[in-house]
Amino acid sequence: MQANRLSFDVKPNAHPMDEASRLKAFENLGFGTLFSDHMAVVRWSADKGWHGAEITARAPFPIDPASSVLHYAQEIFEGMKAYRTADGRAVLFRPEENARRFNDSARRMAMPELPEADFLAAVEALVRIDAKWIPEGEGSLYLRPFMFASETFLGVRPSKEYIFCVIASPVGPYFKGGAKPVKIWVSETYTRAAAGGTGAAKCGGNYAASLVAQSEAAAQGCDQVVFLDAAEHRWIEELGGMNVFFVMQDGSITTPPLGGTILPGITRKSLVALAREEGFTVNEERYSFDQWKADVESGKVTEAFACGTAAVVAGIGTVKHSGGEFRIGNGETGPVTGKLREALVGIQRGTREDRHHWVRAIEGA
Ligand SMILES: *Cc1c(COP(=O)(O)O)cnc(C)c1O
Repeated sequence: MQANRLSFDVKPNAHPMDEASRLKAFENLGFGTLFSDHMAVVRWSADKGWHGAEITARAPFPIDPASSVLHYAQEIFEGMKAYRTADGRAVLFRPEENARRFNDSARRMAMPELPEADFLAAVEALVRIDAKWIPEGEGSLYLRPFMFASETFLGVRPSKEYIFCVIASPVGPYFKGGAKPVKIWVSETYTRAAAGGTGAAKCGGNYAASLVAQSEAAAQGCDQVVFLDAAEHRWIEELGGMNVFFVMQDGSITTPPLGGTILPGITRKSLVALAREEGFTVNEERYSFDQWKADVESGKVTEAFACGTAAVVAGIGTVKHSGGEFRIGNGETGPVTGKLREALVGIQRGTREDRHHWVRAIEGA
C-alpha cells in the first residue's frame, strides 16, 4: 500500500525568529495571528502525482492571477493541534482522523487524495522542526493543513495542479473571554448547507458562505452563528465552525445527526464516546429550534455547548433570535459541559488515562 511514501527535503529557515521575540509573543497569544518559522509543502500535478515534498521557511506562494483557486475556490483544509504535555512530550490528538477527513473533503471537491501516511508525515515533520513553537501550559500549536488548486487555467473543470501545505500557529484561547460561555445568534436568513452540497466537507467555500451570517451574529452582539437546516429552516445543524450539543435534565445528551449537511467533527465524535463512558445516554437525533426554546423554558434542557478543535468545548450561555433571546440555565458553563471538557482536555494534555489511544506522541519533538 505505502510503497512510495514521500520523503521530505528539510531546508531550515535561515532567519528564524529569535528566542526572546518568540517568548515575548507567547505572552499575549490570540488565535491565528502568529506563525512558526517553517511550513510543509507538497505539490501535485496530473502527470507527476505527489512530488517535491519539503519542509522549508514559511514564505508566500507566487500565485498567477488565473490560478484556479482564485476563481472557483477548489480549496480544503484541516485544523488540529499539537500539545506539550506536562511530562514533556509533543502530542497530536487523533491525527489519523484528520488525515482521513481531509481525503473525504478532497473527494467531494474533485481533488487528489494525499495518502494518510504522507499527510501525517508532513504534519509531524513540521511539528518536529518547529517544536519550540508549541506553547507550554494552556496554549497549543494550531496546525493548518490545506490544499488548493494552483493550475493557471480559467476553464471550469478540476484543476490539474495542486499545492498541499501545512502551517503552524501558536494559539491561546479561541474566544476572547476564555472559558466564558458564548452567546449565539440563530440565523433565519442564511443556511450553511443543503442535502447533496458540501456541508460535510471542510472547504473554504463553506466558510466564505457563512461569513455574512457570522457578521450578522457579531452585529447582534453574539460570538457565533447557529445554522438551521436548509430545507425546513427548523432543525438545528451546527455553528459556523463548531458542532453543538444539548444536555437534558434527565441526564441524556442530544446532538444533531451527521448526514451530509453537518461537518463530522472529531471533537464531536470524541465527546460522544466520552459522554457514553461517563454514563450519559447520547442521542444523535434531529432537534428543532422551537423545541430547544420550549425545553429551555420548561427546564428540560439544562445546558448547551459547542465544540471543535479550536475552541475545544464552549458553553452556550445565551441564544438570541429575531423574536428575542433566552438564557440557558443560569447563563454560565454548566457542570456536565465542564466535566466533559475536563475529560477531553485531560486526555489531550496527558493528565488523564488515554484508554482509546487517541494521543500520538511525535518522536524527536
Ligand atoms: C472543523 C469544523 C468543525 C469541528 O471539527 P473538529 O474536528 O472537532 O475540529 C465543526 N464544524 C465545522 C463547520 C468545521 O469546519
